[in-house]
Amino acid sequence: QAKQRGNGFAFYRAEMNRHALKILELENDLRHALERRELLLHYQPKVELARGRIIGCEALLRWQHPQRGLVSPADFIPLAEETGLIVPIGAWALLEACNQAMQWQQQGLPAIGMAVNLSSRQFRSGDLPTAVAAALRHSALPASRLELELTESMVMDDPAGAVQTMQQLKGCGLQLSLDDFGTGYSSLNYLRHFPVDCLKIDASFIRDVDRDPSAAAVVTSIIDIAQNLGLTTIAEGVETHAQLTFLRRCQCDALQGYLYSRPLPAADFAQLLARPPAL
Ligand code: C2E
Ligand code: CA
Ligand code: CA
Ligand code: CA
Repeated sequence: QAKQRGNGFAFYRAEMNRHALKILELENDLRHALERRELLLHYQPKVELARGRIIGCEALLRWQHPQRGLVSPADFIPLAEETGLIVPIGAWALLEACNQAMQWQQQGLPAIGMAVNLSSRQFRSGDLPTAVAAALRHSALPASRLELELTESMVMDDPAGAVQTMQQLKGCGLQLSLDDFGTGYSSLNYLRHFPVDCLKIDASFIRDVDRDPSAAAVVTSIIDIAQNLGLTTIAEGVETHAQLTFLRRCQCDALQGYLYSRPLPAADFAQLLARPPAL
């Protein structure tokens, strides 16, 4: 019995070491990913419900690893966040996304908005407003077409400090949205003071919206609050027509999700933008 447990532990430890080694390897690779040009962005359209137009897109980070293939952000963003690598990676993503929006415009495509995700580390780094101003200047993208997506948890750690940073960012003339809305511990009292423009209703509520009355109640309440505060709403992770029908009924402003399009490489997104399918 004891021996067996011993072996089990040795096995467990070997597994742990392999796991730790793998993370160490990944971290080392991530350090070089930027300079080796292995990072890229995919773009997912944001579609207005009323007229079915593409009003913007969200830039989503991808890592084309030479051995592992396409690594999902869920597997490397936490690592980038821990190591601080997210700061240079985030700055790169910001500039790349702004440049891409301008490139599409120069190709004669509609001048749509470009949304970029921020990490909490970036948000707290102090020089975010400088990095944002630099990306706007270098790309010549009008600030009004840039949207930054923050999460509730990022801002609720230090609401007063966050409001200051948000005001500074708003001062550049850009748009701010609260991502994954409804999943964090946001307080409605703070929401009132946040200079945000849009609430992104989290996909977990949208998933069950047409079969679970409580999910439906959350979604209609978020839309109601947003309307009363003068904010727009976008539903994330919309996959079915039943969800779309529900969202139309409660006057959600826009949607994002596989129902319309998955996140696409830049060239494919340009084709979509040139000939947008009907919603
Ligand atoms: P997020 O910001 O909430 O992004 C939405 C995620 O939902 C994306 O996953 C997107 O591909 C996925 N999605 C969109 N529509 C659907 C749908 O209809 N069904 C389902 N099942 N999924 C859908 P992705 O691209 O894997 O990104 C995961 C997360 O990684 C993002 O969640 C965001 O938190 C983070 N992330 C991605 N790019 C960046 C970045 O440039 N910077 C930072 N800091 N974080 C990023
Ligand atoms: Ca997002
Ligand atoms: Ca989200
Ligand atoms: Ca999310």
